Amino acid sequence: MRVSKLYAPTLREVPAEAVLESHKLMLRAGYIRKLAGGLYSYLPLAWRSIRKIEQIIREEMDRTGAQEIMMPIVQPSEIWKESGRWDVYGEEMFRLRDRHGREFCLGPTHEEMITTLVKNELHSYRQLPTNLYQIQSKFRDEKRPRFGLMRSREFIMKDAYSFDADDAGLDVSYKKMYDAYSRIFDRCGLKYRPVEADPGAIGGNGSHEFMGIADSGEAGIVYCDTCEYAADVEKAECAPLAAPEEAPLPLEKRSTPGCNTIEAVCSFLKAPITKSVKAVAFTSELGGLVLCFVRGDHEVNEIKVANAIGANEVAMAPDDMIREAGTVPGFMGPIGLDTKKCTILIDSTVMNMHNVCCGANAKDVHYVNAEPSRDFVCTKVLDIRTAVAGDKCPHCEGHLKEARGIEVGQVFKLYTKYSAALGANYLDVNGAEKPMYMGCYGIGVGRTLAAVVEQYHDANGMIMPRSIAPYEVIVLPLNMKDRACVQKAEEIYHTLNANGIDTILDDRDERAGVKFKDADLIGYPVRIVIGPKTMARNAMEVKVRCTGAMSDVPLDGDYVTALRDILEQTL
Ligand code: ATP
Ligand code: MG
Repeated sequence: MRVSKLYAPTLREVPAEAVLESHKLMLRAGYIRKLAGGLYSYLPLAWRSIRKIEQIIREEMDRTGAQEIMMPIVQPSEIWKESGRWDVYGEEMFRLRDRHGREFCLGPTHEEMITTLVKNELHSYRQLPTNLYQIQSKFRDEKRPRFGLMRSREFIMKDAYSFDADDAGLDVSYKKMYDAYSRIFDRCGLKYRPVEADPGAIGGNGSHEFMGIADSGEAGIVYCDTCEYAADVEKAECAPLAAPEEAPLPLEKRSTPGCNTIEAVCSFLKAPITKSVKAVAFTSELGGLVLCFVRGDHEVNEIKVANAIGANEVAMAPDDMIREAGTVPGFMGPIGLDTKKCTILIDSTVMNMHNVCCGANAKDVHYVNAEPSRDFVCTKVLDIRTAVAGDKCPHCEGHLKEARGIEVGQVFKLYTKYSAALGANYLDVNGAEKPMYMGCYGIGVGRTLAAVVEQYHDANGMIMPRSIAPYEVIVLPLNMKDRACVQKAEEIYHTLNANGIDTILDDRDERAGVKFKDADLIGYPVRIVIGPKTMARNAMEVKVRCTGAMSDVPLDGDYVTALRDILEQTL
């Protein structure tokens, strides 16, 4: 490819809505263009990178024995109704009707589809395990599409589905995918960490997310400073914290005018926040009020609350619902409430505390010296708070640290959730019919590219790892009017491509400064400059984008090998 022909319109100004560097750079460098919210075109540079990522994914998936297929994007509502997800998927699902009024959706994921596909044809234990995958556009009407390819409404996903005879088989398939994912992200040059993830309604410990490490990541993760434990904060287990022993004092009411936040209450009562209990009120698709109580400085974890009550998700409860349960927004406390009118969840740390302050379920009133084990009413005591840095590790004596991550992939044990719902059974050795054990495994292809750019850039632009860069090398003749230079550059360009090094030639009649700027912005791993001065030294000048290191490579030697060696040392 010649830059004069390359369709990569660069931008000087990026729209204000682009806040992440990866988003800005991909727009500026002419990788992508936005059509509408969360809908992007991949221009040639992005598409080449995407195809390289897809190729890495294919190689690693095929290596595990998984087979590539392609299923329809348009899915009939019936299969989603059978699994029970048509109604719970909610507004994120793009729904449509055909000319006969039948309902369909644009696939946000394909568990129903794959289960339907295999259910009558994968029927003997002899055919198991089987793993099928596809690389395809997925559609999700995200509430907040943003950050370019990171969270879009149409995006490319690799999704794989494994089928096994039993739990032990699923463990093996899961491990294979986990290992393949590690190799895929290693090969893409991404700095990542697999973390334990919330498996939602399915429960158990069967899910990991692969997180690209980046301060701008939307996901919070915690990891142990001593052992291997790492988890999404949504999932991270919190052991109950101890509190100093104290003799219980008599419960007292105090007037706390206008103090409707825990900070205001503690400062008014001059009480340490670690001796206070705060409340958060939720409701869910199941209806009913759920009052959650945690230590004043802790945060309630909505995912844990949803799991505790068996809901898909929870939302803040409206004020009138709170009043109906006999309490007052801003002054809720777990004393004297009626558990028939609401569900009361108390975080296990709270039960270790003594002489705490909490709301008294009346306007402008709080209790002090409340003794949880003596005074609180509750439905259930359990872990409902979000882990924070400094918490004790749930698996060793170490402590947790916090980091931000970009979820680039997730692996998931589904067990028999979909096979049971959709009747995907097989016959075992004895001819008995049993549901297959399934796993599902996703990678966001565009998000992986965005995450890599987020990790590797500087003030001048992107720094693409060689494995997924649109081109590995750019050959840049300084002056297109200098025939000898141009000829040499052409020769190098052809020779490198002929030897399997993915090379582009900047043959534009532009000032050298412009060419240098664009090469840096686009992030080619290696730049070769040919000019009168380098020709006089009988050399090409080679610059490595990721280190800035410059060196001369002789023109009359085996420069292909020399460049291969240099490329080996790039990202
Ligand atoms: P998130 O929590 O970020 O919304 P998710 O957990 O809903 O993602 P999965 O259903 O696990 O996503 O999908 C598998 C992978 O697809 C994710 O790990 C992510 O890399 C990618 N992905 C999901 N949603 C989007 C999106 N809106 N835009 C781009 N990639 C996405
Ligand atoms: Mg996920």
